[in-house]
Amino acid sequence: MSQEIAHAERAHALLSASASHRWLHCTPSAQLEATLPDTGSEAARRGTLAHEIAELKLRKHFTEPMGPRKYTAALKKFKSHELYEPVMEEHTDAYLDYGQSIVHAFPSPPFVAIERKVDLTDYVPESFGTSDCIIIGSGQLHVIDYKNGSGVPVPAEDNPQMKLYALGALKAFSLLFPIREIHLAIVQPKVWDHPSEWSLPVEDLIAWGESIKPIAQQAFNGEGDYSVGSHCGFCRAKERCATRVKQLLDAGTKAPMRPPLITWEEVADVLRKAEGIVSWYNSLKELTLAEVLKGGTVPGWKAVEGRGSRQYTDLDTAFTHLKEKGIAEAVLYERKPLTPPALEKVLTMPVYRELLEQPGLVVSRPGAPTLAPADDNRPAFNAQVKPEDVFSAPLQTTNGVEEIR
Ligand code: SF4
Repeated sequence: MSQEIAHAERAHALLSASASHRWLHCTPSAQLEATLPDTGSEAARRGTLAHEIAELKLRKHFTEPMGPRKYTAALKKFKSHELYEPVMEEHTDAYLDYGQSIVHAFPSPPFVAIERKVDLTDYVPESFGTSDCIIIGSGQLHVIDYKNGSGVPVPAEDNPQMKLYALGALKAFSLLFPIREIHLAIVQPKVWDHPSEWSLPVEDLIAWGESIKPIAQQAFNGEGDYSVGSHCGFCRAKERCATRVKQLLDAGTKAPMRPPLITWEEVADVLRKAEGIVSWYNSLKELTLAEVLKGGTVPGWKAVEGRGSRQYTDLDTAFTHLKEKGIAEAVLYERKPLTPPALEKVLTMPVYRELLEQPGLVVSRPGAPTLAPADDNRPAFNAQVKPEDVFSAPLQTTNGVEEIR
């Protein structure tokens, strides 16, 4: 189960495993989120579709062998979905390959469960989760999760969602199978070439479960302090949460900031404190527009008609008319080559690699310099490159705002 289909889990469990990184850090967040509507995004719906394809492939290979006709018919249904992308085939194949590599490493066939609902109530009040894939054999419990998103890398290390699934799987299966080691893996093909993996002894997992019990109870009661952090990213309250808004707007610095110019030290301080303010502002505007459009009152704000656009009443009729009037076809259409990333999406990665990368028909050029905090994982930009190479490209900041020089 992933962030993409977290809404389905949340529909029943106040404290869902998929939101655990949030309610473990900000205990009142779950009760607050429960008061707000769940507006599923297109990315979330696309993720759900990719999960359904992934589930079909795993079921076919591990738990429900099906003939080619049944499998093709099921796959065809997914392929006709408006959000289907050819690259989903490749990514879900990577997930299947990983599951197969785990299963085949056992000396005898292990137990496999796909999309298994697990009971988490021993540790978290009234909670359950749905684990994408559970594999058990030779004293090992493997919990594998597929993630379709590309925006936020989700590592397996110390991941509370994965640990909760593992605790649920232990509860469900430890009477049937002896389990000593826990192996967690997240397959996120849009982010990593290889799945993120992490292991721990069963005793450590249970000790962690015990340690979160009081926090989970506090979260269930809606108690504790609001706490802002990276876990706010998918919170339903993120636009209007008073604690977060206050922190975002409180980007002032204690430094003197004397006119006429602030110092570079003060710039560094303001940039750090204002991180995320642009995306939050845009998101808040969208939320406010939706409120106004449904009849709500937001003092001092109203919805107005945006910039209009011209459209053909009927494209075929219009173009036939233009051609009859002597306008050349070359004037009416523009032909643009697809970029390498767009072609990779259309061709799928193996074909793209074979046809373009291997013959050396594409090269990777370094990106334009991007501003990032000093503790960012990437190495500092090489300032030895020629200035014209650097400054002919748009300057990007980490929050995506571009300034064309
Ligand atoms: S936005 Fe952040 S601080 Fe506010 S409730 Fe959500 S998780 Fe907590």
